[in-house]
Amino acid sequence: MEIDYKHIKVIGFDADDTLWVNETYFREAELEIQQLLSVYETPNKIDQELYRVEIDNLPIYGYGIKAFTLSMVEVALELSNYNLPNKTIEAILNIGKAMLEKPVELLDGVEEVLKKLSGKYRLILATKGDLLDQERKLAKSGLTDYFHHIEVLSDKKESNYSKLLNHLDIKPSEFLMVGNSLKSDVLPLVNIKSNAIHVPFHTTWAHEQVTEKETNGKTYKTVSGLKEILMLLN
Ligand SMILES: [Mg+2]
Repeated sequence: MEIDYKHIKVIGFDADDTLWVNETYFREAELEIQQLLSVYETPNKIDQELYRVEIDNLPIYGYGIKAFTLSMVEVALELSNYNLPNKTIEAILNIGKAMLEKPVELLDGVEEVLKKLSGKYRLILATKGDLLDQERKLAKSGLTDYFHHIEVLSDKKESNYSKLLNHLDIKPSEFLMVGNSLKSDVLPLVNIKSNAIHVPFHTTWAHEQVTEKETNGKTYKTVSGLKEILMLLN
C-alpha cells in the first residue's frame, strides 16, 4: 500500500542510532564488562544477567549510560558474590565515563536530509535517555539549529507522544516520526493514528526488539537509509 505524506507538516527525528551512532558503544561496553568479569562467569551468563538487571532497573533509573553503569556495578557485585575488588568497580565506572565522552559520529546523509527537510517542514527532535547526555550529544553534533523543538522523553510510549503532540499543538495526522526503533519510534505513532518511517540500524538492544505479531497489520514504511526519506517526502 502506498502511504501518502502530503498532510505532513512536522517531522520528528529520533536521535540515537537514527542521527548518530549509539548502540555500538553499548555493545563495546558489554564486551569490556565480559572481559572484566571473566574470572566469575562466562560471557553469555554475564550478558544475560546484565540485561536482566537493566530491565529490572528501568522503572527507577530510566534509559541511558548512567543507568547502564549502575547496572554493570550491580551485576558485578552479584556475580562476584559481593567480593568485588575496588579496582574492578573503578574499571566499571571508567567504562561508563568513557561512553559519556565518546565523540558524536553522525550517520550517513544526516546533515543533507535535515538541511533539505528543514526548508519545507518543521523539524523536532524526540529522544529518550539522560537529559544531560542527550544535550551533550546534540551540542557536539552541530545539528541543534535544524530543530524547532527538542524533547528528551523519559519513555517513548503512546502517551508520551500524545502529550508531546498536544503540547506542541500538532495533529497526529500532520506528524511523521523517523527512527530506528520499531518499539519506540514507529509502533506508538501508528497506534495513535500518526505516521512513522522506520530506518533500521545494524544493531538493536534486545529491549527495543518487537515480534512479528506486534507489527502485523501496522502501516508504516521501512527505508534502508535516511536519505531515502527525501524521495518519499518530495
Ligand atoms: Mg534510536
